[in-house]
Amino acid sequence: MGQEYFTGALDQENIHIYLHEVGHTFGLDDFYDWSPTGQCCFLMKAGSATAVTEFDKWMLRDFWRHLKPRYGL
Ligand SMILES: [Zn+2]
Repeated sequence: MGQEYFTGALDQENIHIYLHEVGHTFGLDDFYDWSPTGQCCFLMKAGSATAVTEFDKWMLRDFWRHLKPRYGL
């Protein structure tokens, strides 16, 4: 993400590119060439949403639900 974009967007309620990148820090992947069945628009599918969606939240919970037993968290 460009520095100019980030500083220029600081007064926005949802800095959606930043939020997308933060999603990667939580282990979420990009969806450039496919969408999960029934899901058209969510933050981790770049350009399809401008705020965190319920599906983004579900993916985050699902990712950590699988990590928890694997690493005894
Ligand atoms: Zn990405």
